[in-house]
Amino acid sequence: MDKYRVKQGQTINLEDWDANEISLFPEGKKAAKDKTKKLNKKLEALQELLYAEHKQKVLVVLQALDTGGKDGTIRAVFEGVNPAGVKVASFKVPTAIESDHDFLWRIHQHTPGKGEIVIFNRSHYEDVLVVRVHNLVDKDIWKKRYDHINNFEKMLTDEGATIIKIFLHISKDEQKERLQERWDVPEKNWKFSSGDLKERALWDEYQKAYEDVLEKTSTDYAPWYIIPANRNWYRNYLISSILVKKLESLNMEYPLPEDGLDNIEIE
Ligand code: AMP
Ligand code: MG
Repeated sequence: MDKYRVKQGQTINLEDWDANEISLFPEGKKAAKDKTKKLNKKLEALQELLYAEHKQKVLVVLQALDTGGKDGTIRAVFEGVNPAGVKVASFKVPTAIESDHDFLWRIHQHTPGKGEIVIFNRSHYEDVLVVRVHNLVDKDIWKKRYDHINNFEKMLTDEGATIIKIFLHISKDEQKERLQERWDVPEKNWKFSSGDLKERALWDEYQKAYEDVLEKTSTDYAPWYIIPANRNWYRNYLISSILVKKLESLNMEYPLPEDGLDNIEIE
């Protein structure tokens, strides 16, 4: 998975990252789906262990442009996990109270506690993405936020969190098809917003803003992964794979039973 991880300080030109890429599964969809199913079984067991051990905290940040597949990823990758230990936090346009505070105020309270996995569907990164592209705050303010974000994430990891940041990378053509589908299919109409077309017109500005995010905030302690996301099955495989590897590396153990249980008989 290393080829998808952004190294600290790496220069990123998203045009060089192929959103159609499927190099780990040249044999195609069927094999990848089978493998993903197996990985998701592993993920279920690891999440159970994380919850039981009650020591580690896991934060998954999901970012993408409209139709990038954030919702679909959450559905596919976390399908079988125990909802008691997994939460999704979705960040929308800030409310009046949220806007009255610093940009991390609303974020911090949703970070994972011990034994939890939290998935951020959008995140504090919106405050250097949509905010920048639409000039919602002065440049003097948002340009300092990369450092604030790195410091915030360092603090979270120092306090025991594992952070995995996923950028779902789709092509402009793919977005066109997905928007068209939202428009054509009645069951998908609810997802279509005219605002999406205004955002699409700012495609280049968003790519630039994402490149800066990936370059400035991919750290050894909280790395970004650029996931080629034109094919859902490949995207799901990669993300399941990254999560399983990360969770396995935490070397978790089930807690020992309490003392003095040796001679107990359950009648
Ligand atoms: P969706 O994820 O499609 O439900 O849309 C949520 C909307 O909220 C997107 O258009 C985001 O750009 C917007 N949003 C999220 N966070 C912020 C933020 N900090 N400032 C402004 N808009 C935001
Ligand atoms: Mg939307």
